[in-house]
Amino acid sequence: AAKRSGVNNYSFYSSNLYDKIQKRIKIENELEEAIKTKELEVYYQPQVSLKSGIPIGAEALIRWNHPELGTVSPGMFMKVAEESGLIQDIDIFVLKEVTSEIKSFMEKNIKIPISINISDTFFKNKNFLKIIKNEIENSNIDPNLLELELTETIMVENVEMVIKKLDTLKSFGIRLSIDDFGTGYSSLSYLRKFPIDKLKIDMSFIKDLETDKNSQEITSTIIAMAKNMRLKVLAEGVETDFQLNFLKEKSCDEIQGYYFSPPVRLNIFKSFIIK
Ligand code: C2E
Ligand code: MG
Ligand code: MG
Ligand code: MG
Repeated sequence: AAKRSGVNNYSFYSSNLYDKIQKRIKIENELEEAIKTKELEVYYQPQVSLKSGIPIGAEALIRWNHPELGTVSPGMFMKVAEESGLIQDIDIFVLKEVTSEIKSFMEKNIKIPISINISDTFFKNKNFLKIIKNEIENSNIDPNLLELELTETIMVENVEMVIKKLDTLKSFGIRLSIDDFGTGYSSLSYLRKFPIDKLKIDMSFIKDLETDKNSQEITSTIIAMAKNMRLKVLAEGVETDFQLNFLKEKSCDEIQGYYFSPPVRLNIFKSFIIK
C-alpha cells in the first residue's frame, strides 16, 4: 500500500490507516480463532517468599502459540483483546485452566495459590460473580488457592458497588490482590475500605530502585503502608541482587521476577514445586 503514497499525502495517510485497520482485523479474527482452537497456553511465573527463598505461589499469564509468529506475549494482542471484548474469553479460559491445575495439585497434596488477571471488562460483566462462583464449585477446589488480580482502575469507579462485589468475592473464600499498584489513582483512604489481601507493587518502581531515590521512597512507602494495613505485599519485576536486598531490608513479603524465573510452561513450573 505504501507504493501508492507517491500520488499525494491524502492517499499515503489513508492507505496507512487502511493497513492498520486490516492488521487489527487480522489479529482480532485470528485471536478469536486461537481461543477456539486452543492456541492459547497458560504460563506460570513463580512468586517467591523473601524469608524462605522458595516459591509459595504463581501468577498465570497468557501466551499465544501463533502458527507463524511463535510464542506471542500479551503486549502484542491485549489492546485488541480488550477493545473487542475477547479479553473476557481469555480470562475465562485462564480461570478454567488454573482451577483445573489447582485441583490436580491438590490431589498431590500440594497447596499452592495461583493468581489470575481479571480484566476490567470481565469484572464489570453482569455475570462475573456467577461465573467465578460456578467455576469454584464445579472444579471443587479450595477457594483459598485461587487469587484474583484486579487493577487499581476498577477501584476508583463506583466505589460502593465495587466494595459490594469484592465482599461477595471474599465470601466465596478466594484471595484478592491489586495489580500494578502505585500506577493508578486509588486514594489511600479508599484502600482501607476494600477487602483485599495483597498489593503488587508495579514493576516501574522496582526497575529504577538502584538509581532513583524517588522509586526507593515510593517502594518503601507502599511496603510500610501495606504492613500498616495488614496486607501482604509483593514486588513485581525483580531482576537484580540490589533490588532483592533492598526489598528484603524493607521486609517486603514476596517477589516475582526474572531474578527467580520468567513465566514458564506448566511442566517447568511443576518441576519447581514438585521435588
Ligand atoms: P501483569 O499482570 O502485571 O504481569 C506481569 C508482567 O511482567 C508479565 O508480562 C511478566 O512476564 C512480566 N515480568 C515478570 N517479571 C519480570 C521481570 O523481572 N522483568 C520484566 N521486564 N518483566 C517481568 P506479560 O506476561 O507479558 O503480561 C503483560 C500483562 O498482560 C500482564 O501484566 C497483565 O496485565 C496482562 N495479562 C497477561 N495475562 C492475562 C490474562 O490472562 N488476562 C488478563 N486480563 N490480562 C492478562
Ligand atoms: Mg498480574
Ligand atoms: Mg502487574
Ligand atoms: Mg499489568
